[in-house]
Amino acid sequence: MYYSDKSVAFFDGAFLRAKDIAISPFAQTLHYGLGVFEGLKAYHTQHGVRIFKPKEHFARMKATAEALQMNFDYSLEELELIAYQLLEYNKLKNAYIRPLLVAGDHMALITGNNTAKLFMAAWKWPRYLGDKLLKVCISSYARISPKAMPVMGKISGAYVPNIMASTHAKKHGFDEAIMLDENGYVAQAPGANIFIEKEGMLLTPPLGYIMPGITRATVIELARQLKIEVRERTITVEELLQADAAMFTGTATEIAGIATINEQPLKLPYAKSQCARIAEAYDELVHSVHEPAYTII
Ligand code: PMP
Repeated sequence: MYYSDKSVAFFDGAFLRAKDIAISPFAQTLHYGLGVFEGLKAYHTQHGVRIFKPKEHFARMKATAEALQMNFDYSLEELELIAYQLLEYNKLKNAYIRPLLVAGDHMALITGNNTAKLFMAAWKWPRYLGDKLLKVCISSYARISPKAMPVMGKISGAYVPNIMASTHAKKHGFDEAIMLDENGYVAQAPGANIFIEKEGMLLTPPLGYIMPGITRATVIELARQLKIEVRERTITVEELLQADAAMFTGTATEIAGIATINEQPLKLPYAKSQCARIAEAYDELVHSVHEPAYTII
């Protein structure tokens, strides 16, 4: 699904057959989860193949690597160029792009001095949570605490609680989980941010415990353009359960509407919600981006 014998991926400075890439079994990333990844999406737009907001994604990856004191020396332009080259090598038009910084061989519990190796692959991936409205549950697994590690980017090891939450939700017949923060407020989904709707207004948890999602920021911008009021504030479980509508937002998820939370249906038919209007506007936006694809360096 992610690669075939012919797929090309990037690793440690070169484009290689994905099947031939070998990561050292001594890499710190494998043992302790000290790694940083990103998830970008390319769309076949009327202006050609365009990656949505690549600079924002790569800037988040670099900032997260810096927060972990991982050495990593690609510029935003170089990263963007590699991503577009990958799409070309693999003849992909609509695709998900996954860069990962792999820390060097190091068994001690401190960030090693070696420069992290860049892996990047791309593949066709349908919308992460599918196209239907979701049945979700509130998870007993909490969102990671900002007191334990930076929450502003995708740190590999930070995904274990998210995997627990999703796996547990699916095992019990739900499509996805909603995780609370350590104070019991609504945080987000394991791989997406959340918005709830109340009387035509959108509410979303503030930055602090959550991933500062690029889709979340895009949705806030789109809502302003559509004159839908948006507030970033803490949301209680009670407010969540009494929401008129709700949606998850993320690069791979895009906008996914929620039908039920803990088996309780939300009040509005989704098609009549502001969430549905946002979903339509988002779809239009990602398919109409026309910035130059990349600069040759
Ligand atoms: N939270 C988590 C934990 C994620 O992994 C993601 C991305 N998959 C998001 C939120 C959404 O972020 P973005 O909109 O930048 O993709």
